[in-house]
Amino acid sequence: MESMTFVLFGATGDLAKRKIFPALYNLYVDQKLPQSISIIGLGRRDLSHSDFQEKVKDSILDFSRRLEHEAANMGEFLDYFRYSTLDVNREEDYQSLLELVRQREKELHLEENRMFYLSVAPEFFETIALNIKNSGLGQTNGWKRLIIEKPFGHDLQSARELNEKLSRAFEEEEIYRIDHYLGKPMVQNLEALSFANPILQSLWNKEHIANVQITASETVGVEKRAGYYDQAGAIRDMVQNHMLQILMMTAMAKPKTINAAEIRHEKRKVMESLRPLKEKEVKNDIVRGQYISGEVNGQKVQSYLEEPGVSPFSNTDTFVAARLWIDHPSWTEVPFYIRTGKRMKEKSTRIVIEFKNKENQKYKNNQMNPNLLIIEINPNENISLQLNSKNPLNNGKITPIRIDFSNNQISLGVPEAYERLIYDAFNGDSTFFAHWKEVELSWEWVQPILHVFENNLVPLHKYQSGSYGPAASDSLLLDNGFKWWPDE
Ligand code: NAD
Repeated sequence: MESMTFVLFGATGDLAKRKIFPALYNLYVDQKLPQSISIIGLGRRDLSHSDFQEKVKDSILDFSRRLEHEAANMGEFLDYFRYSTLDVNREEDYQSLLELVRQREKELHLEENRMFYLSVAPEFFETIALNIKNSGLGQTNGWKRLIIEKPFGHDLQSARELNEKLSRAFEEEEIYRIDHYLGKPMVQNLEALSFANPILQSLWNKEHIANVQITASETVGVEKRAGYYDQAGAIRDMVQNHMLQILMMTAMAKPKTINAAEIRHEKRKVMESLRPLKEKEVKNDIVRGQYISGEVNGQKVQSYLEEPGVSPFSNTDTFVAARLWIDHPSWTEVPFYIRTGKRMKEKSTRIVIEFKNKENQKYKNNQMNPNLLIIEINPNENISLQLNSKNPLNNGKITPIRIDFSNNQISLGVPEAYERLIYDAFNGDSTFFAHWKEVELSWEWVQPILHVFENNLVPLHKYQSGSYGPAASDSLLLDNGFKWWPDE
């Protein structure tokens, strides 16, 4: 791997501590960092290099998945790190940063490859990108790359404005937009599951698939994020990005070759085929919910409106379910259902593919269950296939059986999402990052829903904490003769 400089804005923040430093360390232990690397952390506070290195060390001891951290050569790893004080608005701070970057490039004989990771609030993205350009940090003889993380805008217009500003300093190919769901092993596996298996590949279309269900349910409430969440809701926090990304990965057609450009091309085609919702259709195809008090995992919990930092009159959605149609010949008449919510009965991100059953009539008395392919993404990593089989203990009655594969046993050794994604960005592999077009098309699809929600034109269904969400989300499926699987 090429030598490089990794510049981390927001190095004193929570994301750096919990995810980024442990990810870098795990990569180091796995010998997946470049042989020569300079890592420069930035924050508003004044810190010495050694104070900063201590912080990095503490975060690794607290959050690294590696058990070897005692034994491995922590000193060598920490020596990659330097610190510079930077206020995003002060131009002179970028000059000090540039001096440090150059000094380390000289000392370590590094190529001028520079990666800028913005682990700061999104309102700073533009200012930082502009200052990278103006200060000379972005003028290199090597490559430069920018890593940013959602939210990419608050709506279609602000997303476009942000992108336009970023694109003054970085080309699209230089921007790596993290959607950490795309870093999850089972999401990355979707492409192999559907294209590396001729059995599944031949069934992955409207002839054989009755419907697709994507669920991302959480048991937690809004936690300490009310300031952000009450302005965003589930529609911005989950649907616009993670849910639509999983949908794209599930529905995309087989790429000509398996590489970043082709996969992203196919994903984009899914978004381009997604039937736009007119505002009056939102009422029929979208269910909006908000949790009231209840019991989750045996604990009594309060309603969303009682959460600290939430307005007592808030209409923010903590649950969204939707029925989507992909107007592409492969998927005509196949509904895709998505739902996501907080304070639900279980924590689970999964995809269920329900297959058509044309043979049901032949077994009149049996009421067969459909074949299901269930892909569990989080917290368990499982693939299971539900088939029908005669039960010899029950007079040969046809009953469902499950064929199961679980990744769970090996998951301790599996790199975490941030490790995979940072590693891919180091290597210039953008397969599992969101392309601007995907982001823009997602906002376009979501935009009429935002308008309807903001103007309160659809009911806000209250659902009990610890439930599967409002009953109205079951009706979305019942309308088409389906139900959520597995049985609830
Ligand atoms: P944080 O508040 O803990 O840290 C923010 C960082 O920004 C700090 O290092 C702070 O010094 C720096 N900062 C603030 N104002 C600055 C200024 N004027 N100049 C220079 N630096 C400044 O936030 P966080 O939780 O680490 O999140 C960072 C970003 O990542 C946010 O955009 C957040 O939405 C996103 N994010 C965070 C998480 C998470 O798990 N924490 C997950 C996904 C996305």
